[in-house]
Amino acid sequence: MTAPMQGKLRRIAVEEAFSLPEVAAAMRDQVCRSPSVRGGDLSLLRLVYDAPADRPKVGFLEGLLDLEERRLKEMDQYGVDMQVLSLTSPGVQMFDADTACELVTLANDRLAEVIARHPARFAGLASFAPQSPRRAVKEMERAIGKLKLNGFIVNSHTNSEYLDDPKYWPILEAAEAMDRVLYIHPRGASDGLKWPVGDYGMEAAMWGYGVDMGTHMVRLMASGVFDRFPKLKICVGHMGEAVPFWIWRINFMNSRNQTTGRSPKTSLTMAEYLQRNFLITTSGVEDPLALEYTVKKLGADNVLWAIDYPYQPTAPAVAFMDAAPLSPEDKAKVYHRNAERVFRINQENR
Ligand code: MN
Repeated sequence: MTAPMQGKLRRIAVEEAFSLPEVAAAMRDQVCRSPSVRGGDLSLLRLVYDAPADRPKVGFLEGLLDLEERRLKEMDQYGVDMQVLSLTSPGVQMFDADTACELVTLANDRLAEVIARHPARFAGLASFAPQSPRRAVKEMERAIGKLKLNGFIVNSHTNSEYLDDPKYWPILEAAEAMDRVLYIHPRGASDGLKWPVGDYGMEAAMWGYGVDMGTHMVRLMASGVFDRFPKLKICVGHMGEAVPFWIWRINFMNSRNQTTGRSPKTSLTMAEYLQRNFLITTSGVEDPLALEYTVKKLGADNVLWAIDYPYQPTAPAVAFMDAAPLSPEDKAKVYHRNAERVFRINQENR
């Protein structure tokens, strides 16, 4: 490990993806080559896991599978002290429940092993299989209690169902009870949303991810799920998936809907849930104006830095935060202090 540069803020990147050969092989064989999977995630997944030999390689798979070679070198090169790792989208959510549970155990074990080898460089978010909420909760408990992982990650919908569905409440209840953040990462849009976002390369990070994730966030807020789980903390990437920019209108229309009975009654407003129950990361959005706005809207305690490695390059993500229009104190919060607090990263691990 390299010594920290003089006066440099600790840099903890919190939405950093990895995979393992077993998950990658299952993605290729059971998702990319399955005739029953259509639209949504498929075109990006094929590019990553099953690109024809004559297509230029995007290199994401190599970046996902490597943890200790190129990744650590790149972290050293750009002064990234720590990556908080998570199994790449869509996790295990496209497999049958048994396969998903088996792979997720393997992925969390592998994650804990790499953290144990590099405790100052890596932390990790545990995956689980929402296809079986009961087994998901068991794995969540094992991941925190035994593996000492730092929080949880799930990739938006599962079989086009969102986490406001009562069948998934045990997962929300477990995250709240353990006082651990649930990071909700995007994936390709659900069945009802995926066709209009499926053309012109729009289906993934360009547009479809944000549409699906923003919808997921608004469903959580408008359903009243945060009245049931008031201490639940949801982390979302990509500068809040456009919801902070839209919150005034969401708030205004929801309160009108509540008076006419079109939205469920909630004890707080949508804007209050956004501030109380959400954390937002900068992954994949290096726009200083968007950052300034998000910090003002959510508060500097609720915004965290992320790169989105290996999908986004490290150098501009570091340059963006180094030059960010924030006070030194707020910059320290976004670069590392909030991550240390919410993911319980040991201050001494450096
Ligand atoms: Mn990501």
